[in-house]
Amino acid sequence: MAITATETDTPAARSFGPAAALSCRECGERYDLAPRFACEFCFGPLEVAYEFGEVTREAIQSGPNNIWRYAGLLPVPGNVADLPNMNPGLTPLVRADRLAAELGMRSLHVKDDSANPTHSFKDRVVAMAVEAARTFGFRTLSCSSTGNLAGAVGAASARAGFRSCVFIPAGLEEGKVVMAAVYGGRVVAIDGSYDDVNRFCSELIGDPAGEDWGFVNVNLRPYYAEGSKTLAYEIAEQLGWRLPEQIIVPIASGSQLTKIDKGFRELIRLGLVEDRPYKVFGAQASGCSPVARAYEEGHDVIQPVKPDTIAKSLAIGNPADGPYVLDVCRRTGGAVAHVDDAAVVDSISLLARTEGVFAETAGGVTTGVLRKLLDEGALDPRAETVVLNTGDGLKTLNAVQAGVTATIKPSLDAFKESGLL
Ligand SMILES: *Cc1c(COP(=O)(O)O)cnc(C)c1O
Repeated sequence: MAITATETDTPAARSFGPAAALSCRECGERYDLAPRFACEFCFGPLEVAYEFGEVTREAIQSGPNNIWRYAGLLPVPGNVADLPNMNPGLTPLVRADRLAAELGMRSLHVKDDSANPTHSFKDRVVAMAVEAARTFGFRTLSCSSTGNLAGAVGAASARAGFRSCVFIPAGLEEGKVVMAAVYGGRVVAIDGSYDDVNRFCSELIGDPAGEDWGFVNVNLRPYYAEGSKTLAYEIAEQLGWRLPEQIIVPIASGSQLTKIDKGFRELIRLGLVEDRPYKVFGAQASGCSPVARAYEEGHDVIQPVKPDTIAKSLAIGNPADGPYVLDVCRRTGGAVAHVDDAAVVDSISLLARTEGVFAETAGGVTTGVLRKLLDEGALDPRAETVVLNTGDGLKTLNAVQAGVTATIKPSLDAFKESGLL
C-alpha cells in the first residue's frame, strides 16, 4: 500500500525542524517555508512560526557545546550539528562582580559574544541563514552589512562551500574590512550610508542578476533573525534555567532585541524556565538613535536619521524592526536610551578595566546605557541584570586611546628611574 506523504514528511519541511510556516507579523497571514520575507497582502515582515515537540533541559544539556544544542527550537534540520557550519554560540556569561560593585549593583553579568568564531554575535544569525540557503539551493551568499555581518558571511561561506559577495558602506573600520575580505569572497564598498547599501541590495534582489543569491538579512531574513533567540536560551541556561530580571540589548535594525524577547517567551511557554517578569532595555548611540527618540517622545513611528557615531555596527538610520522594539520595551516595562560617543569610549574602558572584557563600540553603547539608566533610576540596581557585549574591541581599535605606559632602555636602572615601580 502506498504511503501518502504528509506535509511534514517532505524534505523541505524536514529541513526546518520544528518550524511550521512563515507568518506575517502584522496580519498573521501564513506562508510555506520559502525564501520570502514580506507579506503579499500588507507588506508586513514575515517570521518563522513553530510547532514544537517536547524539548527538555536534559536534552539541551546533552547536546553540542554551541547553538545546535537548541536545534529543537530553531528552523534547522535535526542533523544540523553534522553539517559544515561555523557552530557559534555558548559564549561566556561573565559574572561581573567588579563592574557591579563600581556601579552599585547587586548582580550583573556580561554576555560576551565577542567569543564567537568571527568575534561578533552575527555568527549566530548567519548560521541559520546558511542552513536555509543550503535547503533552498542558493549558491551565493550575500548581505548588506555595517561590518560584522560581512565577516560572518565571508567565514561561513568559506566553511560551507558557498560563493560570497557582501556589500558594506565605504569608510568602515579596517578591522571589519580585513575580517570580511580574508576569507576570499568579494567585498564591495558602496559610496553611501548603510541605508543606501540596503536599498541597493533590495534592487539587486529584484533583478535577474541577483535571482539565485541568498541575502542573509533580506530574502533569508526570517530564518536569519531566529538565530538571535539563541542568546536568550543561553543566558537562561547559564543563569541556571532562570530569566534575568533586566537585560540591556544594542539596537541596529532591532531584530536581535525582538528575538531575545521571543526566545524568553518560548522558554516560558515550554516550561523550561519559571514564568517571571523580565524587562528589556534597548541601547543606541546618540548619533544614531531613532528608536530611543521615538521612545522618549511616545511615538509608534520611527523617524529615520542620518547616522553619525563611532558605533558603526549599530549605525542603521532606518531600523526595520524599530516599531517592534518599542512594543517589546514598553510591554516588558523596559526603556530605550542612548549615549554619546564620549560615554561609549569611557564605557569600553570601564568594562575592560573592571572585567577584562574588550568590547567593540556596541558593547560601549550597552554598558553606557546601563550606567545612564542606573543614574536615572530607570534600572533597579538590586535586580539580576545582564548586559550584552556583541562584538570585539580588536575590530574597532581606533575608538579607544590606549598604548604603552612608557618606553625605556632595557636596563633595571632605567625601569627604576621611570617611577613605574
Ligand atoms: C548587528 C549587530 C547588532 C544588532 O543587530 P540588529 O540588527 O539590531 O539585530 C549588535 N551588535 C553588533 C556588534 C552587531 O554587529
